[in-house]
Amino acid sequence: MNPYKELIDTDIQGKNILLREDLNVPSKDNEIVNDERIRAAIPTINYILSKNAKVSIISHFGRPNEGKFDEKYSLRIVAERMAEILNRSVHFEEIPLDQKSPEYTNDITVHENTRFLVGEKSGDEDLARKIAKNCDVFVMDAFGASHRKHCSTYTLSNFAPATCGGLLIIEEIKNLKKIFENPKKPMIAVIGGSKVSTKLTVLKELLNKVDVIIVGGGIANTFLKSSGFEIGQSLFEESMINKANEIIKIANKKKVSLPLPDDVVCENKISTSVKELIKIENEDIIKDIGPKTSRKYEKIFQEAGTILWNGPVGVFEKKPFENGTKDIASAICKSNAFTIAGGGDTISALEKFANISSINYVSTGGGAFLQFLEGKELPGIEIIKKL
Ligand code: ADP
Ligand code: MG
Repeated sequence: MNPYKELIDTDIQGKNILLREDLNVPSKDNEIVNDERIRAAIPTINYILSKNAKVSIISHFGRPNEGKFDEKYSLRIVAERMAEILNRSVHFEEIPLDQKSPEYTNDITVHENTRFLVGEKSGDEDLARKIAKNCDVFVMDAFGASHRKHCSTYTLSNFAPATCGGLLIIEEIKNLKKIFENPKKPMIAVIGGSKVSTKLTVLKELLNKVDVIIVGGGIANTFLKSSGFEIGQSLFEESMINKANEIIKIANKKKVSLPLPDDVVCENKISTSVKELIKIENEDIIKDIGPKTSRKYEKIFQEAGTILWNGPVGVFEKKPFENGTKDIASAICKSNAFTIAGGGDTISALEKFANISSINYVSTGGGAFLQFLEGKELPGIEIIKKL
């Protein structure tokens, strides 16, 4: 049995639909830098419109202070871009939702940022009552915000006459579940990024599922340090050394391979160079994996049945340190495995260095993606589960 209440199984003909999307696009100086998140919401919006239903769309945008309007975080630019993409009019409602409930007079309305509202983050019930007023069905589609127990991602479901999951969130869940249920083996996970602490739980969880874990970036540095290697002045987390050792021990016991880099790109006061790991000196800062290590990882990818990628393996934003992440990105794209990637910086790297469309599934979630992999119950997914 399908455990989820899905939009496509719900009668929405001619109804008023309250839709939570994740329209939290990257922006700079009031301009949208990347509109992928708006585009990801379009199939659900079009589906609703095809049923002659009216839709009020709500989302958060950035991290403004609650209770205060801030132009920098206004969803107006998102509503405008959505109108361009849909090629039809989108009404932007600037009156905050706690002052005016959605009225469903227009076909498509985008409401102002839910994070301007007092009570959004605490999941306030009075606020939820106001927002849910006049709606027939609440459609939760914001996978990227589903790990938040906020008013707009959770509490609303207690006040809307019915709740279901939109096309995007269902697609996310189905693809991510493939990793847990019958993944094609061997399964490889690449977990990079700056901090072990943000990814410790996911690393532990993955030990139960994968055959190989490749750690990268500051995370790899912490593992190298814990294994007794000199890492000079590289970024690592002292408080995570014991945890890293524990992970290595569990990996050994479970026969999960945890390869570490053989060569790295490092920087010191004089130069940037590729060095064998064993030659690292006190003043060196490791900022990327070296070419030998890239080749070693590429071989692992060639044999893979499933590859999961989250987190760059180097400081890919800077040219001298981009090659490792570039190599990983193109090797994953070329692989015949079922490939899945997620995380803000991971997606930027894929867009920058590879043909992102050759990844089998790219998750729109960052934090939510990681928490899903940790096996956590996400509040925004809980509300679309059948009882
Ligand atoms: P994602 O957003 O995909 O989950 P993270 O935010 O966890 O990824 O990690 C990305 C960041 O990690 C990047 O800003 C990158 O510069 C940094 N990083 C990667 N390798 C290193 C390194 N060796 N030293 C310092 N920072 C690193
Ligand atoms: Mg990031």
